[in-house]
Amino acid sequence: MSDVTPPRIAPRRIVVAGGGTAGWMAAAALTRTLGRTATVTLVESDAIGTVGVGESTIPPLITFNRLLGINEAEFMAATQATFKLGIQFDGWKGPNDSYFHAFGLTGKDHWAAGFQHFWLEGRARGHDRSYDDYCLELMAAREGKFAHLPDDRMSYAYQLDSTLYGRFLRKMAEGDGATRIEGRIARVELDGESGDIAALVLDDGQRVAGDLFLDCTGFRALLIEQALHVGYDDWTHWLPCDAAIAVQTESVRPPVPYTRAMAHDAGWQWRIPLQHRVGNGIVYCSRYLTQDAALDRLLGNVEGAVLTEPNRLRFVTGARRKQWHRNCIAIGLAGGFMEPLESTSIHLIQRAILRLIRLLPPGPISAHDIAEFNDQQLTDMEQIRDFLILHYKVTERRDSAFWRQCAAMDIPDSLAQKIGLFRETGRVFRRNDELFAENSWIQVMLGQGLTPLTHHPIAAKLPDDELARFLDGLRQGVEATVRGLPQHAAYVSRYCGAAPA
Ligand code: FAD
Repeated sequence: MSDVTPPRIAPRRIVVAGGGTAGWMAAAALTRTLGRTATVTLVESDAIGTVGVGESTIPPLITFNRLLGINEAEFMAATQATFKLGIQFDGWKGPNDSYFHAFGLTGKDHWAAGFQHFWLEGRARGHDRSYDDYCLELMAAREGKFAHLPDDRMSYAYQLDSTLYGRFLRKMAEGDGATRIEGRIARVELDGESGDIAALVLDDGQRVAGDLFLDCTGFRALLIEQALHVGYDDWTHWLPCDAAIAVQTESVRPPVPYTRAMAHDAGWQWRIPLQHRVGNGIVYCSRYLTQDAALDRLLGNVEGAVLTEPNRLRFVTGARRKQWHRNCIAIGLAGGFMEPLESTSIHLIQRAILRLIRLLPPGPISAHDIAEFNDQQLTDMEQIRDFLILHYKVTERRDSAFWRQCAAMDIPDSLAQKIGLFRETGRVFRRNDELFAENSWIQVMLGQGLTPLTHHPIAAKLPDDELARFLDGLRQGVEATVRGLPQHAAYVSRYCGAAPA
């Protein structure tokens, strides 16, 4: 044993600007994982408030909550959450078509060729079952059923009230030692020599100094943009919707375990059932639809009494050129925004926080850490961007100027390659850590009307009876499992029923 005491490193002072979902997810995760090695101070302004939307999530949120040691049933009750098995897309391929993008897997892959090749071979030999019939999550969603299955065999996420999620995390973070300061940030003070952020100065003159600053101030991007001017990549030419209106309505039926994305002639509308109410919103392109017309359209297509004033939002789709710059990291809407078509925003918050924890330097910040963070985070955003563009580009809709513009637009090379490969060969490959796996791409490409011209020759090797046994066996397995599942609404009230709001 050495008798030399290692030097005490002063705890890193982390300042979180903003207390929306991003701010409180960050504060909760940092206090829980970093313990005494950091102090976490969060500044938020009740007068400014949060964006007030964000209800549909994707499966990795389960991992985030588990890392934080959150009890699922407690969390669901506190956030009025329901289970989500995927998204039903209505009117995307054509105005009267509908398809499902479900979580989980479809069928069973061969190491050399995904299940879709065997399904396509089956179709060529007269099997008429839909690709959907081989996906457990999809068939359960259609039947309105849900249960936890052994070995996490059913992949799911949550439909939740993100304001309540923020409140839930706040309690955790404060319990773990985070300090909350209520007040409006009036000014960001930069260090005259280094150009780093030195402190946030509040309206009342209070100065909140720190070593590392997380910009969670939402669309305002007070630190990363207004103070550090990193610049913004505008992706509106690929994703032309630039406005949304949200309202909440009373539930008129038991909650289904899926989100709906209903296309209209200048965008789309969401419907997300929670335990105590339903979240609705219209996303649209202001070039083709006025705000008044959008509101009329939204209110004309909701079920149940409207509970809230319409929340009108404008946005520019895109990403900050640098997500981490100097001693400031943008998390949440401050880092960029893509429409919630595939429920990816809260996920990007989670990715940024976990990435930051992985890259947290022991001493001074390394330029390599910053570069790595930016590369990984921007790659995530670009891959999600491509997946969203797919929904607009590959469609048979030509019934409005909006859809004609989408069909005619140029797309990123990365997406053109994915579409071309699938169209010609039925193949899809997941790149590195890409969020959306093969099954997601296949479901959406088939759903949007893209049918491969050929498929892998290995599927042709199977004799008729063997192929039939393989396909029927998988489908019957799905049917038998779904038959045994309880109704989603009953399961929710038993497992995590919330007190009435
Ligand atoms: P905000 O909620 O805006 O929080 C910003 C915080 O900064 C607030 O606390 C505010 O008070 C504070 N602040 C700002 N300025 C100051 C100041 N000067 N001084 C002090 N404090 C300040 N995501 C999903 O994953 N699923 C969805 O279904 C989904 N739907 C969406 C629908 C729409 C129309 C939009 C616009 C977004 C949607 N999102 C969705 C995204 C999701 O809402 C956000 O990612 C999430 O709520 C995080 O927001 P935030 O914390 O970054 O920003």
